[in-house]
Amino acid sequence: MKQSTKAIHTPYERRDAWDALQIPVYNSLAYEFDDASYMSDVFSGKVIVPDYSRVLNPTVMHLEDRVRNLTGAKEVSAFSSGMAAISAMLIAVSGTGKNIVSSKHMFGNTYLLVTRTLARFGVEARLVDLCNIDEVKNAVDENTCCIFLESVTNPQTEVADTRALGEIARKWNIPLIADTTIVPFTEFDGKKNGLDFQVVSSTKYISGGATSLGGLIIDYGNFPKVSECIKKEMVFNLGGYMGPQAAYMQVIGLETLEVRYRRQAETAKKIAEFLMTLPEVKAVGYPGLESHPNHKLFKELYGDTAGGMVTFDLSDQESCYNFINNLKLIHRATNLFDNRSLAIHPWSTIFGTLEDDEKREMDLKPTTIRLSIGLEDPEDLMEDIKQSLESRD
Ligand SMILES: *Cc1c(COP(=O)(O)O)cnc(C)c1O
Repeated sequence: MKQSTKAIHTPYERRDAWDALQIPVYNSLAYEFDDASYMSDVFSGKVIVPDYSRVLNPTVMHLEDRVRNLTGAKEVSAFSSGMAAISAMLIAVSGTGKNIVSSKHMFGNTYLLVTRTLARFGVEARLVDLCNIDEVKNAVDENTCCIFLESVTNPQTEVADTRALGEIARKWNIPLIADTTIVPFTEFDGKKNGLDFQVVSSTKYISGGATSLGGLIIDYGNFPKVSECIKKEMVFNLGGYMGPQAAYMQVIGLETLEVRYRRQAETAKKIAEFLMTLPEVKAVGYPGLESHPNHKLFKELYGDTAGGMVTFDLSDQESCYNFINNLKLIHRATNLFDNRSLAIHPWSTIFGTLEDDEKREMDLKPTTIRLSIGLEDPEDLMEDIKQSLESRD
């Protein structure tokens, strides 16, 4: 079966009592057992069926099954947010005295998780230029627990070569972990491109209409001890497992992912090309543009479509604020890949709590606007962008 068919036709593990066509939402917290010895087998992990919804829930298991079916992963674990999945992943591989080799170009809260929270437990963040393979080779040593990257960095839109990074990781027998939130896992083969684990904020493309928070760890099974740590320690002890309502929304989101993604990526490319023609726009960041410095590599790894996130630069922060304030159709909001288009000034919002110097080191700029392109007609979006750039107040 092709991806779009699989996204809809992954069977349920058990038939519902009433043969419901869509997976029921199992709000039940606990599950009853016929006898004590079977109950003991379940609690000791000999039999995998739900006993308590903090660690297994039938609706969440079905979302995990569908993602496993779509990615060819060995295991998939669903969490209550992208950050819950990322923190569980990095805690599962790290420990005091270990270091994580990654980039300064990271999602705001992931950057703070690595440089602040994990640092308090003696985990060192070695932030290098992941596009410079020699720099990565020099940074990795016997205490490195993983190489971590983002598929397209947000908002710098940088793309690193996962195949080359995967070779370094394999040489040291450590996992290569990628946050692939910006390009859905249905669009590329993570396993073939050197990844051992993908972490995803399913809040974004999977949920689609901004309906629910969620996160996924997609595990190709190359590091059985880490897999065990995620399924047992992380899910059980950190308590960040996904809830059934969110899983239900995300199962529905998954069914329309491919059509939404294609439409948003197509419109985003048109918007990126349109922005290039405007005199007020100083630079455009979109890996689907031939002029993007990582365009060729992006195409090799992730294919012909480049997602729905477009960034652009104006001459100064005041012009950015002016643009955002005058939008009539595009919403002033955070989030990505909602059905409606969104605009944000990352410097003063997502990264607003950091000092200016730290932001500059992360190659953030006060002149950048980030757009998340929705499902509207492209002409309407272009018109809104144009009128907003031309408005003065
Ligand atoms: C949004 C986002 C996250 C965090 O996900 P939440 O679901 O908001 O916790 C992590 N990484 C990237 C790239 C994101 O865009």
